Amino acid sequence: MSGVGLVFGPVPSRRLGRSLGVNNIPAKSCTYSCVYCQLGRTLNLINARKSFYDPKSIVEAVYEKLKDVEVDYVTFVPDGEPTLDLNLGFEISRIKELGVKVAVLTNASLLWREDVRNDLAEAHLVSIKVDAINARTWKVVNRPHASLKLSEVLEGVKAFARGFKGTLYSETMLVEDVGQMEEIEDIALFIRGLNVSRAYIAIPTRPPAEEWVKPPSEQQLLKAYKVFIKELGEGRVGLLTGFAEGEFGTARNPREELLSIMSVHPMRRSEVERYLERSGVTPQLLEELLKSGDIVRLIYEGEEFYMRKLPGRKK
Ligand code: SF4
Repeated sequence: MSGVGLVFGPVPSRRLGRSLGVNNIPAKSCTYSCVYCQLGRTLNLINARKSFYDPKSIVEAVYEKLKDVEVDYVTFVPDGEPTLDLNLGFEISRIKELGVKVAVLTNASLLWREDVRNDLAEAHLVSIKVDAINARTWKVVNRPHASLKLSEVLEGVKAFARGFKGTLYSETMLVEDVGQMEEIEDIALFIRGLNVSRAYIAIPTRPPAEEWVKPPSEQQLLKAYKVFIKELGEGRVGLLTGFAEGEFGTARNPREELLSIMSVHPMRRSEVERYLERSGVTPQLLEELLKSGDIVRLIYEGEEFYMRKLPGRKK
């Protein structure tokens, strides 16, 4: 493959700023076949690492692109699992030599392998998937390659987290009615043990591999958020709800800004009131947003919260 198609973007990302994507894996070659995957079902379910493309072509394609654009990160975020690429460590090292930061978004399924941990150790930022820590749920949500064992995957994740010197994020994608809410405390506890800089809770926002996949209800998402905050602290938990990705912080007016905040952080009523007062906006705005269906009011442990109505759950 020539350099064409090996890099894409830059695209704006809430987590990574301006990110130039590297597509180092052919479409849908993965160790998982997640029910929510926006790329459809995995065509090539594999667990063996191999060389897919000439690593020099990948570095060259990044080099060429960086002549024209400035980015915060070069990010390995392919149409499959990036650590399946046997040349990942080489590619990360060479791209770093171009004077740019490198991130990898991985499903973490191969972290039990020392060579994968060593490759990822080269990156400035790694985001790991932790959707389940119960094998039954894991098999339902992630549909892993038959050779993988969750206990080994989780041990690998812990070993990597212990030794990694860069920035570590976790991402937990929640799907309604697959058993994740029954183990949400355990998932949060596990992530706490990894000492991540930030733990993101995501929901499917694009057409999933399986039609039956739905995002959790707002009430469930709020619960997951509060459980994560209890374990990790408020500043370390964020929601990825698909709203205004890339536009965060650029809202033009109080209404848009409020919606933008509520898409990442459910707000207490008192926080909303303080915000409206500070912005010189009448409290009516809150009622208007409720009426238009842009936000929902929820009660959690006796407290009133407001959050963005989730995509896929609008009536
Ligand atoms: S790990 Fe990522 S690419 Fe692989 S099936 Fe899951 S969502 Fe899709």
